[in-house]
Formats: sequence, C-alpha cells, structure tokens
Amino acid sequence: MEVKTISTTFHVANFEELSEEDRMLVEKAISQTEISYAPYSHFHVGAAVRLDNGVVLGGCNQENAAFGVSMCAERSALFAAGANYPDVAVNSVAIAARDASGLLAEPVSPCGVCRQAMVETESRYGKPLHILLYGTRHTFVINGISSLMPLAFSTF
Ligand SMILES: [Zn+2]
Repeated sequence: MEVKTISTTFHVANFEELSEEDRMLVEKAISQTEISYAPYSHFHVGAAVRLDNGVVLGGCNQENAAFGVSMCAERSALFAAGANYPDVAVNSVAIAARDASGLLAEPVSPCGVCRQAMVETESRYGKPLHILLYGTRHTFVINGISSLMPLAFSTF
C-alpha cells in the first residue's frame, strides 16, 4: 500500500500587514459579527465577499430553533453574491467570529459544508479564492480552497 501526504501552505499575518483591500474586507466581516442572529449558540460569525466588480457583500450566521434550518455566515455571503451578481466572480472571502468574550484571538475556520460551497464557487468562476481567516492575534491568508479542502468532492 502506498502512503501519500497532503500538506497545506498558508500565510500568517498581523492585521497591519494585510493590504488595504484585505483589511477592509476583514473589517466588513467583523462588522457582520455584530448583527448575526445566534440566540442559541451565542457564537457570532461574520463573513464578507469581494466580487471582481469591487462590490463587497456581507453575511452572518442565521440560527433557527430548528437547528438544521440555520445558515452559516460564509454561505449566506456567498449565496447573496450568487443571487445578486450571478455573472460576477467572487475573488475573496473574509471570516471573523466573536463569542461572549469578544472577537476570537485565533482565526476562525469555515465548517466543511462552507468549504464545499467555496469549492463550488472556485469551480463556477474558474479562479482560486483569496481567503482571510481573522483572529485578533493574527490572520491566516489562504490562496485557494484546496488548501483547506483537499480531495474535495466534484463532478467536474
Ligand atoms: Zn459553515
């Protein structure tokens, strides 16, 4: 039996090291954490996507008493982009989260379902996503969802 290894490369940056464009996207994601609807988990996640036309759209988690109905911040932002600008590529995604103590120190990472949605977004527009996972201590900068989702499901 052969053993294969999958490795991931990403950058760790201080907020000040990010480009102005990336800082603005992160700030939008942070602002989204303040309006998320999370009365059950009290874990408030915000996301922001930037489109190729410069439009920035926000998303935040939307919980429901019937938990399965709930929606993550990342997909609410990605789907808003798809619903309102179907012909414009999404090029960047930023994610931030806060709990009762405030913004998380360590970067928050998207769940598997949202990673799969990002795989589809890359496939749809034929380009890798620039992904910013924000924490107050540092931000992970990831170019391409394959770094977070190797061997992803695809029918293409
Ligand atoms: Zn998710």
